[in-house]
Amino acid sequence: MKLVITEFMNEASVATLTGRLDTRYDPTLVDNRPALLAAIAGIDALIVRNRTRVDQALLDAAPRLRVVGRLGVGLDNIDMKACAARQVAVIPATGANAAAVAEYVIASALILTRKAYFHSAPTAAGAWPRAALSGGHEIAGKTLGLIGFGSIGRLTARLAMALGMTTIAHDPALAADAAVWRESGVAPRSFNDVLRESDVISLHVPLIAQTRNLIDAAALSAMKPGAALINTSRGGIVDEAALAQALQSGHLGGAAIDVFATEPLPAGSPLAAAPNLLLTPHIAGVTVESNQRVGELIARRVLEWLEAH
Ligand code: NAD
Repeated sequence: MKLVITEFMNEASVATLTGRLDTRYDPTLVDNRPALLAAIAGIDALIVRNRTRVDQALLDAAPRLRVVGRLGVGLDNIDMKACAARQVAVIPATGANAAAVAEYVIASALILTRKAYFHSAPTAAGAWPRAALSGGHEIAGKTLGLIGFGSIGRLTARLAMALGMTTIAHDPALAADAAVWRESGVAPRSFNDVLRESDVISLHVPLIAQTRNLIDAAALSAMKPGAALINTSRGGIVDEAALAQALQSGHLGGAAIDVFATEPLPAGSPLAAAPNLLLTPHIAGVTVESNQRVGELIARRVLEWLEAH
């Protein structure tokens, strides 16, 4: 049986798959669509990360394809309807990178709340900006607001509560009496209450019609003055021009953004000049450990699926 892997996958998992299937591992395929479409003509299985568009054209180019492994959890690069119509199974790496994202959120929350870490250069240059940096805050006792209380939101809440944060969350899929609120100690709130009450807001929702531009200018202005925003979920959920404006005006105290409406970030992005902003290139879920967990999980589950069907 034939497998093509179009994006980065950890070496040990590629070796496992190569031992069992006729495997082509070529992480350059994601950036060469014609070569990708040619390479998949006779495949039974495909493994992608978040950048390969699994759309109708791709499915048409791979008539034997039966299963897609996704090295991550967001499915917005996969046309799920088209896959279902063709009876192509899609297997995400649910939970396998949650710890990496949750730790990124907590690290960002600490940095944005304390604010002292943006000043290495003046310190090294001898400017000694001690007075300017003595007004940072502690995270204990502050309120973390989570938009989306799924697997990553819940793990982030556990870490935040261990640091003494009060944690509240909004998730329309969970009833106010759902057991998870009692079990986690996280208080359910409306979207607007999360905006109003939180010192740090972290987004953990999928990119769907209801979440596109969820954090727009109105939502940003409803946030507490000086609060911080962290987005590790998907670009398109935050209005980037409005965020840049909220940082410029000082209404927001800071932001950490890992995902963007267009990736890589295009030249001229309003975020490039915004203050108190940490930018990373979609790596919140990517660590040595999570790559290994994600790769092992997807290799195992794709092999199991092919054996069972
Ligand atoms: P999940 O499916 O476990 O949880 C998502 C939650 O969002 C669900 O509970 C759902 O009910 C809730 N939700 C849906 N619409 C909502 C709305 N309008 N308001 C509030 N809540 C809403 O997903 P997860 O594994 O926790 O992942 C969350 C996000 O993180 C996804 O977008 C995923 O793509 C992204 N992610 C990013 C990285 C990265 O490297 N930056 C890594 C992993 C996951």
